[in-house]
Amino acid sequence: MAAQKNGKDCAGRRSKRMEVLSETDVLIVGAGPVGVTLAALCGRLNLRTCVIDKLPSMQMQPRAMALDNEALRILQLAGLDEASFSRFEVPQVRLRSTSFGQFARMNTKGLVDGHPMLISFFQPELELALLESLTRYPSVQLLRPVEWFETIEDDEGCTVSLRCADGGVRRVRAKFVVGADGASSLVRRSMNVGFKGSTYQEDWLVVDALNVDKEFSHVEFSCDPQRPTAHIPGPGSRQRWEFMLHPGEIAEDMLKHETIKKLQIERTAVYRFHARTAAVFQQGRTFLVGDAAHVSPPFIGQGLVSGLRDAANLAWKLAWVVRAQANSRILSSYHTERQPHVWAMIQLAKWMGILVMPRSRWAALLVHGFAKIATRIPGLRSLIVDIKIKPKNRFRLGLFAPRRFGNRFEHGNHLVQGRLESSTGEVLLSDEVLGHHFQLVGIGIDPQEYLTSIQRDVWERIGGKTTVLLARDSVGRAGWVDLDDSFGVRRFPHGWVVAVRPDKVIVADGEPQRTDAIVQTIVGLLQ
Ligand SMILES: Cc1cc2nc3c(=O)[nH]c(=O)nc-3n(C[C@H](O)[C@H](O)[C@H](O)COP(=O)(O)OP(=O)(O)OC[C@H]3O[C@@H](n4cnc5c(N)ncnc54)[C@H](O)[C@@H]3O)c2cc1C
Repeated sequence: MAAQKNGKDCAGRRSKRMEVLSETDVLIVGAGPVGVTLAALCGRLNLRTCVIDKLPSMQMQPRAMALDNEALRILQLAGLDEASFSRFEVPQVRLRSTSFGQFARMNTKGLVDGHPMLISFFQPELELALLESLTRYPSVQLLRPVEWFETIEDDEGCTVSLRCADGGVRRVRAKFVVGADGASSLVRRSMNVGFKGSTYQEDWLVVDALNVDKEFSHVEFSCDPQRPTAHIPGPGSRQRWEFMLHPGEIAEDMLKHETIKKLQIERTAVYRFHARTAAVFQQGRTFLVGDAAHVSPPFIGQGLVSGLRDAANLAWKLAWVVRAQANSRILSSYHTERQPHVWAMIQLAKWMGILVMPRSRWAALLVHGFAKIATRIPGLRSLIVDIKIKPKNRFRLGLFAPRRFGNRFEHGNHLVQGRLESSTGEVLLSDEVLGHHFQLVGIGIDPQEYLTSIQRDVWERIGGKTTVLLARDSVGRAGWVDLDDSFGVRRFPHGWVVAVRPDKVIVADGEPQRTDAIVQTIVGLLQ
């Protein structure tokens, strides 16, 4: 093995046999936006975490520009506040064709779970904010430039071989390794799992411009088969254009175009898009997240969002296993829960690709005509206009109790987020109140009152807490007031209990008298 032959550690010392220099709970390979978000979530959960990147500083290529409310909620969970990176709220996405003019639009105005439905942003600014946030967590260490090249797994953990900038090799013991090393992931290749899917034939030129004085407030796809183009407004005076290139055409030709010549170009890049996912997201103690696990054409702006969903799903599971509050068997639910949703999103992105880049005028007439008609048929209209077609981030199988008759909340779905007010008048979003714990959320009741002291101990031992939600008009009771009736406190005159995981996925629910049974169910799921 090259590492042993070279026999040098990061400080440049030579040694015959490399020794294990340090130890961590989680080693994350790749400090891109997904790896760093995962590191921040691990930091919040007090996991000893080491995140490494082979590059000395972050990537500056023009990539993600749009995030949805789910992504913003996960960034909130990772401790990033709204002001930490600039954003532009996008109210609408429009699709235009040469034959029909505007043939479809999607409404993206408004808030869902406390966050705008769609924003545009500047990826390097977000990544910088995420990197800076890591300094808040003493248990998180960022090392760069350090390259991963091998993991050897045993019963107790992994020995990971890393190459430092000076060519020296360092060995780290980690309980778990996460490959967040992007689309060409070496970690994925070392796992020998497939990366099924397809690669597009065409290249796209991405042009980011600064100081654009012409105002532009919506995302627009010009779905002309001669030249499919996307135009996206950014925060400040930034705007992006994406142009499909024809075979044989090079970026330089396109950059001579009149529209582009007038722009103050900040950066450009040429990409070929992929629609692929790894066959498995976990192998033993190694996991894949973000582009290492799946890549999506960017037509619906979900590549990074999917990666953030991975991070939120995986972080707490690793923490519970490391703290011995759960059996390592729960880790297999990461793949079970994430992979089907990732694949559904990729299929939607491909479908959008058919609208954006039809192969010919005839194909354009057909698909754009169909979409135009669909937006006039009541049942189909909301699929497009209200984006109901977007796959919901809820699981069919996974780490939650099966639904049974009498349940009022959808197990495997995410609990809504709303504004809550404390008895002292402090107003917080509910995820802040629920924190990074399992929670028994008492709707109109205190779940503690329905547990014996032994059951309370059991609940605490598995990392559980309780929270009381009250209606606006409840007087003199301890708890958080559901300011906007997001949790429907009034719908439950005799109270209700909902159990949620640290990532806010609903695990079980029932009448207050079933609180002990709910605790037992969760104990069973974690065993
Ligand atoms: C043109 C374009 C537009 C896009 N638009 C959107 C959008 O609007 N919305 C959206 O959600 N997504 C979008 N995406 C997708 C999004 O950019 C990616 O999904 C996201 O950046 C991936 O982040 P990541 O952290 O998984 O991987 P990356 O950002 O690729 O990070 C991987 C890191 O791993 C490091 N690394 C690699 N190998 C090693 C190794 N052996 N050892 C150590 N470090 C290593 C790399 O240096 C890199 O820093 C777009 C993509 C493109 C190309």
